Amino acid sequence: MGALTEKSQEDKVWEAIADPTKQVLFFTAPSIKATLGEAFDMPIGTNVEGKMAAAIKRLGANVKAFNMDFTADLTIIEEANELVQRIKNGGTLPMFTSCCPGWVKFVEHYYPEFLPNLSTCKSPQAMFGAVLKGYYCQKNGIDPKDVFVVSVIPCTAKKFEATRPQLRSDENYDDVDVALTTRELARMIKRAAINFTDLPEEDFDAPFNKATGGGIIFGATGGVLEAALRTAARLLDGDFKKIDFEEVRGPEAVREVTYEVAGVKINVAVTSGLGNARMLLEKIKKGEANYQMVEIMACPGGCINGGGQPTRSDSVSNYVDYKALRSKALYDLDKNSELRVCEESPIIKMVYDEFFETPGAEKAHHYLHTSYVARSKYYT
Ligand code: SF4
Repeated sequence: MGALTEKSQEDKVWEAIADPTKQVLFFTAPSIKATLGEAFDMPIGTNVEGKMAAAIKRLGANVKAFNMDFTADLTIIEEANELVQRIKNGGTLPMFTSCCPGWVKFVEHYYPEFLPNLSTCKSPQAMFGAVLKGYYCQKNGIDPKDVFVVSVIPCTAKKFEATRPQLRSDENYDDVDVALTTRELARMIKRAAINFTDLPEEDFDAPFNKATGGGIIFGATGGVLEAALRTAARLLDGDFKKIDFEEVRGPEAVREVTYEVAGVKINVAVTSGLGNARMLLEKIKKGEANYQMVEIMACPGGCINGGGQPTRSDSVSNYVDYKALRSKALYDLDKNSELRVCEESPIIKMVYDEFFETPGAEKAHHYLHTSYVARSKYYT
C-alpha cells in the first residue's frame, strides 16, 4: 500500500499563490469532504466540508474555495437532458456516464465501438474549469490568464483528464491548471501549518458555494445514476415525486433495475471496477442486456475509493468497511439536504440565465460537452 504515488504538483500551486497577479480558484470534488479528515486522524466517514473550505481559504490571500458539487449538479442537468433526447429521438443507447476518466480511457483503448454510447457531457471537474475560465472571468471582467484553477480530486486519472485537449473551451489554455489529489491538499494544509482539526467550519466562497443532494452523492457508486434519474424522471413526467432510488445504491458488483416513468421503461445498470465494466460491456455486445443508461466508475465503490484518497493501514482496511463509511457520509448529507434534485439549485438557474442559456443549447454545448478518441490497445 502506498508504493505508487502521484507526481506532486503542489509546487505549481504554491507558485501561483505567491504570484500577486493571480486569483487562485480551488474547487473540491464531492467525495473529498468525506475522506480528507482521515489525513488528520479524524474518524473514517467524518464530513469535513466546513473545515476544508476554511483551510483552503487560509492557504493565501488570493485564494478562493468553491464547491464542485455545483458542477456535479450541472453535469446532471446536461446528462439527464441528453438521456431523454436519446430516448425520445432514437439516439444511441445505452448511454454511459462519462465523468470517470479511468472508465472513459478504458473505452477509448479497449471498446472504441462503444464511444458513441458515452455521454458527451464533460465531467464536473472539466465543467468547473469551463465555468471559471468562461462564465466567471467574463462576468467579473478578468482575463482568463490571470486566474489559476486548481481542482481537488480523488485520483490521478483526473490529473490526466485535466490535460485532455478535447476539454479545452479555448484552444490556448487548459481550463483546469492543476489537479491535486486529496493527499496533496492534505500535505499543503500541513505545510501551511494550519491546525485542521481545530478550524472553525466555514462556507465555500460565493457564488459557487451551494449544491443539491444530487450533486453530493456523485462521490459514491450509483450516485451519478441516481441523481440523473431524479432529473430525467421529472423531464418525462412533470409531476414525478420519487427522490430516493435506493435500488441503485450499494456494494453489489452489478445492480440492474427497471423503472417506468410516464409510460417509458428505463432499464439501468450500475457497476464499478474495470473487471465488472468489461463483463457488462461483453453482455451488452452479446445482446444479453438492453439498458437505457449505465453508470460505470473505474474504482470499486466509486470516487470515495479513488487512488488519491488518504491511505489506510491493512490493520484498518481488513477490519473496517471504509468504503461504506465514506459513502454513508455522502448519503446522510443528501438525505438532510434542503434541495435534493439538481435543477432546484439557484446557482444552476443563475448560470443558465446569465450564460449557458438552456441545457443542450449551442453555448452549453461549447463549454460543457466534449468528444472522445479511439486509442491503440498498446499505447497511451
Ligand atoms: S472512480 Fe476512480 S478513477 Fe474514476 S473518477 Fe472516481 S476516483 Fe477517479
